[in-house]
Amino acid sequence: MTNPSPSGPDFSKNNGLLPAIAQDAQTGEVLMLAWMNAESFAETVRTGHAVYYSRSRGKLWRKGEDSGHAQTVRGIYIDCDADTILLKVDQLGVACHEGYRSCFFREVKPGGVQVVSERLVEPEKVYGHKPEAPAKDSLASRVGL
Ligand SMILES: [Zn+2]
Repeated sequence: MTNPSPSGPDFSKNNGLLPAIAQDAQTGEVLMLAWMNAESFAETVRTGHAVYYSRSRGKLWRKGEDSGHAQTVRGIYIDCDADTILLKVDQLGVACHEGYRSCFFREVKPGGVQVVSERLVEPEKVYGHKPEAPAKDSLASRVGL
């Protein structure tokens, strides 16, 4: 543990985009999953703030740059295959753009999908616009319910 291996995440895999899980450093709650490329990873390490790569916007996504809901990184881990990243973070505000603390606020049950967390922030206050209606039905149909 005292001699860190020089090799970090293997960005030669998966076209240079690796999944990155953010977990609450205090409670262990899984907050979100996003993607990192080598550049966003390097900036995360350098700054101590979570920086992802937005696939929809095609550019670096400095978590909180628009919403203020930034993540201070307390630890960075890679998995056995060096192709999944785990960040332990202190989350300011909420992780999810829909206003929930965690993106995983819906539970899939035999009878359907249920919202199991409390919305803490109105979505329009997160990014100044209202997201589309919850994709409850489409999610349910995707998982075959
Ligand atoms: Zn989310």
